[in-house]
Amino acid sequence: MLSIPASRPNAYTGSPLDRASGRRDDAAFIARALADPDSLFVPVWRARNLMKGVAEGRPEALLISGGAAERLRMAGGPWAFLGFWGGRAVFAVDCSTADDPLPLLPESVGTFADLRQVAGLLPPGEASVLAHARGLMHWRVKHRFCGVCGNPCEPRSAGHVMQCTGCDAQHFPRTDPAVIMLVVRGDRCLLGHSHRFPNTRMYSTLAGFVEPGESLEEAVRREVLEETGVRVGAVQYHSSQPWPFPSSIMLGFHAEALSEEIAIDPDELRDARWFSRAELRESEALGFSLPRVDSIARRLIEDWLALA
Ligand SMILES: [Zn+2]
Repeated sequence: MLSIPASRPNAYTGSPLDRASGRRDDAAFIARALADPDSLFVPVWRARNLMKGVAEGRPEALLISGGAAERLRMAGGPWAFLGFWGGRAVFAVDCSTADDPLPLLPESVGTFADLRQVAGLLPPGEASVLAHARGLMHWRVKHRFCGVCGNPCEPRSAGHVMQCTGCDAQHFPRTDPAVIMLVVRGDRCLLGHSHRFPNTRMYSTLAGFVEPGESLEEAVRREVLEETGVRVGAVQYHSSQPWPFPSSIMLGFHAEALSEEIAIDPDELRDARWFSRAELRESEALGFSLPRVDSIARRLIEDWLALA
């Protein structure tokens, strides 16, 4: 099967941060950086990120500088060192315990918004930093207790490890792999419409979570077979996309179908069809739509379309 290179970076990639993981265990450095008025804080409130310009359709990430972030830090939520941006230390800080987080911020600095709704409009590096903060804070908020013995955990390594106070088990941030694949056969590709899609006319690539003991190629073949009844042979990696909604990474593939007959799983899909390249290029005229331009699903489709 022909390998199809990624034509451009996916959304949520291209972080400007130097993660500087070697500094996480330097407690003296972390204490200095936390107190440094030049340090920057990325606030997260109930899985939302702080931005300005959202209502105007020109969203920008808002980072709060050290002094102004004091009330945020005093709120007592988790925090973690994310790295350096232009020489300044950057931390994520979660303020989800506050019912109204705006009084914790400097005056009139913006709103907390869902990153997924505006990612395509944000500068790519900013979207990546906000996704990073959101994903790490989600893990921290959801892993306050040990999964081995149930005792409370305490943060270590500047927020990147949770250590159990009962049994000393160490817990690390989780990223759950999901495969997303464009299944192709000759000049046609297989797209599905899921019950979960908010847009009732949208057809997109198939996707699903990787299960324990399964290779990525096996997960691609199993998901396609389960959802559509189509058998898949060769599987070729394309690109990946961080997907911290709440804790995944999307691994994108092109996959070659060995069969054409479709038998959908009605619990997963409302419909699945084969589409020719010509049909995809005329999607709006034909009454269906493709996934958002900033999605890896759209990249998989467009990079395949560009071959012919
Ligand atoms: Zn424990």
